[in-house]
Amino acid sequence: MNDKVLVTRSSMPEFEEYVQMIKPLWESHWLTNMGDYHGRLERELKEYMGVPQLSLMVNGHMALELAIQAMGFPEGAEIITTPFTFISTTHAIIRNKLIPVFCDIKLSDYTIDEEKIEELITERTVAILPVHVYGNICNVKRIQEIAEKYNLKVIYDAAHAFGETVDGTGVGNFGDVSVFSFHATKVYNTIEGGAVTFHEESLYKKLYNLKNFGIRSEEIVAEVGANAKMNEFCAAMGLCNLRYIGDNIRERKKRCEYYAKRLQGISGLKLCERDGDNITYSYGYFPVLFQAGKDTGVLRDFVYDELRKAGIYARKYFYPITADAACFKNKYKKVLLENARYVGDNILVLPLYPELSYETIDQITEIVKTCVVGENGTAQNMTKLRLDEEE
Ligand SMILES: *Cc1c(COP(=O)(O)O)cnc(C)c1O
Repeated sequence: MNDKVLVTRSSMPEFEEYVQMIKPLWESHWLTNMGDYHGRLERELKEYMGVPQLSLMVNGHMALELAIQAMGFPEGAEIITTPFTFISTTHAIIRNKLIPVFCDIKLSDYTIDEEKIEELITERTVAILPVHVYGNICNVKRIQEIAEKYNLKVIYDAAHAFGETVDGTGVGNFGDVSVFSFHATKVYNTIEGGAVTFHEESLYKKLYNLKNFGIRSEEIVAEVGANAKMNEFCAAMGLCNLRYIGDNIRERKKRCEYYAKRLQGISGLKLCERDGDNITYSYGYFPVLFQAGKDTGVLRDFVYDELRKAGIYARKYFYPITADAACFKNKYKKVLLENARYVGDNILVLPLYPELSYETIDQITEIVKTCVVGENGTAQNMTKLRLDEEE
């Protein structure tokens, strides 16, 4: 076990399968600009995800940026969002010249606390941008009610929730739009890629134009667009990977269950509750919250370091929370983000991918257990460790 174990490992089809897939591109010489594979992947994804409309994008971030731009909000308007996410979510708001208003999260599933949204609404609020973080689905019903009451748009960052369903409904059906990432590190990848899903038919054309420089025809450029088209090589990879998505998710699920079995009953550890009977998950991440090191992150950082010594690269997703990112620290409205900071300080995402061996999971969970309950890991020792560090 000398090879590094990373937090994830990109899914790939057999080499020959991909080569067969891209061969026609040497005949057509059509490499990008909404080619055949682009169209085919949009159709296949709509079917798999159970959504009426879908626009492919070059990556998840541009999908977010353009989904927001398509809403036509006035400059300086406010969007209520979660700080417990990948930095992309917050950047997408700011790069659209809009103001993020951070709302705290719930300790139960780390998604936005829907009961704290209303108090943040002002006359400048135009939208809510929640994240289905780790594939934990937000309280979509309540969020929709609030949005309707105040006439706000809802934009879901669903980058972690590919292929998930609630009561049989594809997660991409919620809100005005949902945005997915098909980055190499995600459950489903097109190397780099992303998509926006929605119901409103007219939005397809709008996004099509925005991802293609705002060009309407050879001589008419009607708006300031970007270049966010997915190329044919990425679409081909997506078509191949989509054939195996079922196995991929099944293997992930088995490993999550194995992890949970190995880590259950250890006090001071909180695992993600994925108990929604009506929800099918895609098991993109296996986060563990270390409660013994409360407020300090000392135990979490200790586990992170011990794992690294063994060549296991767990990740502190999401630390720091985006509200504390160096580039806009203290720039936006101050809101108490107690839960988000607490979770950010104490969470660790353990390696998870379909080929991860059970022996490696045994090794990982042994290290975690030793850190938490072993000689070095009692809460007292953690306090001592902290005091040592401060000296
Ligand atoms: C990965 C991710 C993104 C950005 O997607 P890219 O495809 O990497 O651009 C946005 N939001 C969240 C929550 C993500 O995890």
